[in-house]
Amino acid sequence: MVQKPTAPSGIVVTISPRGASRLKNGHVWVYRSDIASATGIPPGSLVNVADHRGLALGTALYSSSSQIAIRLISREPVDDFPALLRQRVADAIAYRKPLIHDTNAYRVVFSEADFLPGLIVDRYNDILSLQILTQAMDSQVVREALLSELTAQLHPDSIVERVDPRVRQLEDLLPLPSGLLQGEKTSTIFTMNGVQFHFDALEGQKTGAFLDQRENYAAATQYARGDALDVFCYQGGFALHLARAGCHVTGVDSSRPALEVADRNAALNQLNIEWMEASAFDLLKDYASSGQRYDTIVLDPPAFAKTKRDLDPAMRGYKELNLRALKMLRSGGVLVSCSCSYHVSQADFLGMLADAARDAHRTLRLVEVRGQAKDHPVLLNLPETAYLKCVIGIVSN
Ligand code: SAH
Repeated sequence: MVQKPTAPSGIVVTISPRGASRLKNGHVWVYRSDIASATGIPPGSLVNVADHRGLALGTALYSSSSQIAIRLISREPVDDFPALLRQRVADAIAYRKPLIHDTNAYRVVFSEADFLPGLIVDRYNDILSLQILTQAMDSQVVREALLSELTAQLHPDSIVERVDPRVRQLEDLLPLPSGLLQGEKTSTIFTMNGVQFHFDALEGQKTGAFLDQRENYAAATQYARGDALDVFCYQGGFALHLARAGCHVTGVDSSRPALEVADRNAALNQLNIEWMEASAFDLLKDYASSGQRYDTIVLDPPAFAKTKRDLDPAMRGYKELNLRALKMLRSGGVLVSCSCSYHVSQADFLGMLADAARDAHRTLRLVEVRGQAKDHPVLLNLPETAYLKCVIGIVSN
């Protein structure tokens, strides 16, 4: 027997003791293997979760196809999910007000970390870019509530949806193109830390830029100096900040379209930066062996460990990059080294850097061990919300 009132659907999902203890420990996911009974539940339903004795554990969003079958949204009964969603969007906006400075681009809603699993909303000045990642968030009533609350709160010129076709496939949702949901504007200019960026809502990676690095850009400028190399520069996030701080910067990326935007961004800020289209591994190998030297090197590669199984090759990749960068830094030089792989813990990352420093015969002193910007909150009981590492160190010999 469920002891609390039920969700309007009246659907109860019973989970195993292991799933229940996960929820009791503060996590919000239950995997399909921990679902005891769930037949015929419509995709994306609001469901009541109960343990094997019938004790109510809360209200969740159900996915009929994802390995994460249950995403808890409340420990209490919920009878109107669209109303709860509106409140949580308003809460997410209010949470950020005291935390966000010097920017008109930031993450407005970060999925589980804002108690809205499966929903990401980013703001780029007057354009909102959203991602819908689960069946429950894809429903028409949820979409309507979301758009109306975002419009009432933030008054954007337009709202764009970015679709990851792979996610829709995993969630067993019909294919959908990326595109405008509201308004007509698809490009704008946004500003962070006084640096301006072009934004095209229907191009680029993620929802358009790497907002999670915003505070790390500012931190890096406090130490960066001299000749700087920004490896994996994308549209110039670190490179532009370092050039503005007076460094002589070269940005490297394998993507020509990214470098074209980077170059437009440099012009927009009246900065002079050299862009190179190259494979980072090949370039660092050549430069390290030809005796090229720098005062500052930024490494911000894509996530090498997309799954746990990729961990070993990923760590070898990180180590190779960092080893070569450490060899190329002049004494007193600054290393800014990042990893956005959730599966690489901060301890793993620092261990890898220690090994790289030892093998490069360099001494690295840490000045900052950083994570993601505050608009990407980390929920302490949900380790999956913490993914970005950014270590700043100074080479002392
Ligand atoms: N530092 C950037 C974000 C980097 S994202 C910022 O702050 O905005 C990772 C980048 O790595 C992407 O732009 C991608 O094109 C590039 N990339 C991926 N593999 C690469 C490789 N082997 N060599 C060079 N660049 C690569």
